[in-house]
Amino acid sequence: MKILVTGGAGFIGSAVVRLAVARGHHVVNLDALTYAACLENVASVAASPRYAFEHADIRDRAALAHIFATHAPDAVMHLAAESHVDRSIDGPGAFIDTNVTGTFNLLEAARTHWQAQGRPEGFRFHHISTDEVYGSLGPVGQFTEDTPYDPRSPYSASKAASDHLVRAWHHTYGLPVVLSNCSNNYGPYHFPEKLIPVVILNALAEKPLPIYGDGANVRDWLYVEDHAEALLLVLQQGTPGGSYNIGGENERSNLELVRTLCTLLDARRPRGQGSYADLITFVPDRPGHDARYAIDPARIRQELGWRPSVTVEQGLARTVDWYLANEAWWRPLLARQGVGERLGVGA
Ligand code: NAD
Repeated sequence: MKILVTGGAGFIGSAVVRLAVARGHHVVNLDALTYAACLENVASVAASPRYAFEHADIRDRAALAHIFATHAPDAVMHLAAESHVDRSIDGPGAFIDTNVTGTFNLLEAARTHWQAQGRPEGFRFHHISTDEVYGSLGPVGQFTEDTPYDPRSPYSASKAASDHLVRAWHHTYGLPVVLSNCSNNYGPYHFPEKLIPVVILNALAEKPLPIYGDGANVRDWLYVEDHAEALLLVLQQGTPGGSYNIGGENERSNLELVRTLCTLLDARRPRGQGSYADLITFVPDRPGHDARYAIDPARIRQELGWRPSVTVEQGLARTVDWYLANEAWWRPLLARQGVGERLGVGA
């Protein structure tokens, strides 16, 4: 299959690109290379004859038309997005431009291509989205695919809007789409402004480990390589027009998560007299901070037979080891757009 992956130089997109090339697919990686991108993430496949890179912006309709005409993909996996909730609060405009208008542009380019090819049934447009579109849960319950949308941040509202566009293109034009909404990803190549890398890197630098509010906010944690496996399954076996919730079955409060990271770090790099947990610092809460997200993964488990392969403790241990071994990857990124100074606790 020839797959056009958008956002393939980002965190999740690069895991998808690495896996898809390893599975024998041809991949065209379309990425604008924003501050969040890192082409080193796909260095391991860059020399493959099944890999091509297109430096392009999904806000640029002419560039998209040219790329579809040049590569004639069998499928699109759309991951390009502005993805950091804190940045969406500081500057929502870029989130509307890329996540909403950019998705509209990509849908139109895909529809034009699909129609020109004679509407092949096997074509897929897979939109990768977030569980944040469903809003916030109380202490019990889980999001299912039928949970009404109730986004609360500029980021989640922009993703909800793009989900609606993708479904509308299916119902109106018949474009064979699939959607997936996942929980918080973590793992290797996670950009250093998100909660888990912030904690690891701040701990190594003996800096405070910032936690919003009282740390009671609960998230489900999904190991990125498990997610990439699930995404390829949804692409290849998902029902057209259908959506799939993808979760790690690993709910943790932010405070529990950070304490686990500290324990893992203590075991690998003992910190003098104390524990890294001594560096935990509570900071004023994010405006509109959702209390709890939790995913009911029954549909993807029953229809496609997918389950996560690691617990959060196993995945976090791998992640900590990866950051300890890959300073050459993360150190230069700290200088980008003030990332090093930002108390980014974006989860
Ligand atoms: P990321 O920020 O690491 O990567 C996004 C990539 O998109 C970057 O390489 C960036 O250069 C590219 N990009 C941004 N704007 C672009 C534009 N206008 N044109 C072309 N490329 C552009 O994001 P991520 O964490 O890998 O997330 C990937 C997708 O998964 C996003 O759609 C996000 O909403 C969704 N998602 C992520 C998570 C998570 O935990 N990271 C959870 C749920 C859903």
